[in-house]
Amino acid sequence: MTQELHIVGGGMAGSEAAWQAANRGIRVVIHEMRPKVGTFAHQTEKLGEMVCSNSFRSDDHKQNAVGLLHWEMLAADSLIMRTAHAHRLPAGGALAVDREAFSQAVTDTLHAHPNVTVSQEEVTDLPDQGQWIFATGPLTSPALGEAIATVTGADRLAFFDAIAPIVHADSIDMGTAWMQSRYDKGETEDEQKAYINCPMTRADYEAFIDALLAADKTEFHEGETAGYFDGCLPIEVMAERGRETLRHGPMKPIGLTNAHTPEQKPYAVVQLRRDNALGTLFNIVGFQTKMKYGAQKEVFRLIPGLQDASFARLGGIHRNTFLNSPTLLDAQMRLRARPNIRFAGQVTGVEGYVESAAMGLLAGRMAAAEIAGQTLPEVPQDSAHGALVHHITGGAEAKTFQPMNVNFGLFRPLDDVRGGRRGRKERYKGYTDRAKAAWTDWLAAQGEGPAQGAAAE
Ligand SMILES: Cc1cc2nc3c(=O)[nH]c(=O)nc-3n(C[C@H](O)[C@H](O)[C@H](O)COP(=O)(O)OP(=O)(O)OC[C@H]3O[C@@H](n4cnc5c(N)ncnc54)[C@H](O)[C@@H]3O)c2cc1C
Repeated sequence: MTQELHIVGGGMAGSEAAWQAANRGIRVVIHEMRPKVGTFAHQTEKLGEMVCSNSFRSDDHKQNAVGLLHWEMLAADSLIMRTAHAHRLPAGGALAVDREAFSQAVTDTLHAHPNVTVSQEEVTDLPDQGQWIFATGPLTSPALGEAIATVTGADRLAFFDAIAPIVHADSIDMGTAWMQSRYDKGETEDEQKAYINCPMTRADYEAFIDALLAADKTEFHEGETAGYFDGCLPIEVMAERGRETLRHGPMKPIGLTNAHTPEQKPYAVVQLRRDNALGTLFNIVGFQTKMKYGAQKEVFRLIPGLQDASFARLGGIHRNTFLNSPTLLDAQMRLRARPNIRFAGQVTGVEGYVESAAMGLLAGRMAAAEIAGQTLPEVPQDSAHGALVHHITGGAEAKTFQPMNVNFGLFRPLDDVRGGRRGRKERYKGYTDRAKAAWTDWLAAQGEGPAQGAAAE
């Protein structure tokens, strides 16, 4: 086997794809443009950098679709997922990590792999020879973006997400705030007290909403069309939709009791989650924003407990580049017009670290099989990976295609289960049980048992 696999982009998807292919005996070259060419969001030259939140979201593999994706990735020996588990921080039911240690470990592991070479360069065209995976993410460099648009003949689509701010822990007033995970979730005391909570009275809340609505916001760049992805709405956009929206979203007070005044129920609560292993940084959960920097400081300091907050990083808006995959990619994630080229990660129209890495896992395995003259067994549609890849390569409506998080709505319905809210628990368990069986069979068809570390029942 002499053919190399070229992977463009060493983020979540590219790093995972490289690991999967290299472990199948394929020689891999990762072309990563950082640090020579940067993006506005990446801050290091490391592989697998987390550009915003330090969370891989829910780790519940029985009742949550992203938790199920975690389970499947661990079973398939995912580099991203096993490294995340190795650098996990207490965060209730979520899989949050120390971001520095995480990306350093991903970088070290790939650099040490005998089949992997890392080349620091920007790739600006789609070669017509060789096997390539493009995993260049939401911030694909403009030159490459143009080249993709030329080859695909389709316009790039752009929309905006927003970054949540990070606060220095020692600037938070713990005489006002308290530590608790919602519903005290978690096995250990650390887990049960993973979040810092800032309480608001009704008057605090109303004043906060007024300030949020009045704050200066960043304007869109010329030629950019605004269209937010619903899972990542900026808080000011939520507030514009209704004064109570935030109180039913990231500021909901349920499952929390103010340790300082247990008899007094807060009207709203702002939560902060640990952002590094040292516990010196906390991010404000769900507080993505496109307010201007000066306005952010003023508005966030209205939150009781954050009146003296010092910010390690303020929020911001960002671009997202993604393909109309249902029309452009085949079931093997290859560009129909150039089958020597695959795409993986967020650029294929999935959304999130986990989903992006999962699409890297599939693309890496598909490319490795092709180079070895084999075909990877069809990814089972009942697995979380299968539900997602099926959605982007054909299941989704091409005309209205928008980036997608993994969710049970992408799964084929189950027979004999109750619908509605009442049947939800049983239904979700049914989806995850079925997915695990399908995924285990798929791995077995490739001669693998579940890798060590896959969550047990
Ligand atoms: C500002 C911002 C905040 C986000 N916040 C979150 C969040 O909180 N949670 C979440 O789950 N997801 C978040 N996302 C989405 C997140 O980017 C993706 O979920 C995930 O990082 C995508 O993985 P990826 O591998 O597709 O892209 P990336 O991880 O971005 O990796 C792409 C890599 O390709 C490189 N590259 C780009 N163009 C070229 C080129 N021409 N040549 C060579 N290399 C190139 C880049 O430098 C980068 O390293 C955010 C995205 C952005 C932009």
